[in-house]
Amino acid sequence: MAFTISFANQKGGVGKTTSAVNCAAAIGALGKKTLLVDLDPQGNATSGVGVPRKRLRASTYDVIIGRASASEAIIETKFANLSIMPSQISLAGAEFELVDMDNRELLFKNAIAEVEDNYDYIFIDCPPSLGILSINALAASHGVIIPMQCEFYSLEGLSQLMLSIKQVKKLYNTSLEITGILITMFNGRLNLSMQVLEELKKYYADKLFATGIVRNVKLSEAPSYGEPIIYYDKYSKGAKAYMDVAGEILERT
Ligand code: ADP
Ligand code: MG
Repeated sequence: MAFTISFANQKGGVGKTTSAVNCAAAIGALGKKTLLVDLDPQGNATSGVGVPRKRLRASTYDVIIGRASASEAIIETKFANLSIMPSQISLAGAEFELVDMDNRELLFKNAIAEVEDNYDYIFIDCPPSLGILSINALAASHGVIIPMQCEFYSLEGLSQLMLSIKQVKKLYNTSLEITGILITMFNGRLNLSMQVLEELKKYYADKLFATGIVRNVKLSEAPSYGEPIIYYDKYSKGAKAYMDVAGEILERT
C-alpha cells in the first residue's frame, strides 16, 4: 500500500507545488511508483509535469464529488514512475459544493483507496488554505511535509498549521504524522533567514529535513517547460537538493 504524504502550508508561494512536483519526480526516478495528486484549483502541479489542463478526461474535482473514479482521472506522465491526478479550476467550487455532503472530510480518502495498492508513494499538492480540500488531503495521508520559507511570519503560520494538523489527527486520522519541515527558497546571506532557521532548529530539530532548498532560478523556469527539475536541468543546484530530499523521505517513511 502506498505511503501518502500531503505537502501543506496555508500560505501561498512558499514552495508547496515546487516541492511536491520535484519530490515526486525524484522519488519516481529512484524507482518508486509515484502518484502526484493535484489538489489545488490553480493546477500548477498538473502543468508542472507537462499535462495541459484543457480537455482533461476527469480531474481531482470529479473524483472528490464522485463523478469519476480515481483510476479514470489518473494519467501517466512521460517521466519515470510518475503519474498525475490532474486538477483544473472547477475544483475551486468544491469548497462550497461539499458543504452539505455527509462525511465530506473523508471523500478523497475513500476515493483514493481504490488505487493505493498501485503505488509506493502518493504525494498531494494542497491549496494555500486550511479549507475542506486540505482537510481531505490530511485525512487521507500518513504524513505531512511542510514547505516553508525562513521569513518573519513563517513561524506564526507554522504554529497555526501545527494546531490544524493536530485537530485533523484527532478528528479524522489518528495515524497522521509530520514527515518533515522543508526549508525552501533559502538565502543564507540574509540575517533574518538565519535567525528564523535557528528558531526552527530550537523547536523542531527532529522534524527539519537536513537538506534545505536554496533559491535557484532553474526551479522557477522548469514549470514553464512542463518538466520537473531533474529532467529540466539535472546538474542544477535545485535538482541536487530535491534528489537529496527524496533520499531523506525514503529514510523517514
Ligand atoms: P506554493 O505552491 O506554495 O504556492 P510554489 O511552489 O508555486 O508555491 O512557489 C512559488 C513561486 O516560487 C513559483 O513561481 C516557483 O517557481 C518559485 N520557487 C519555488 N521554489 C523556488 C526556489 N527554490 N528557487 C526559486 N524559485 C522558487
Ligand atoms: Mg501551489
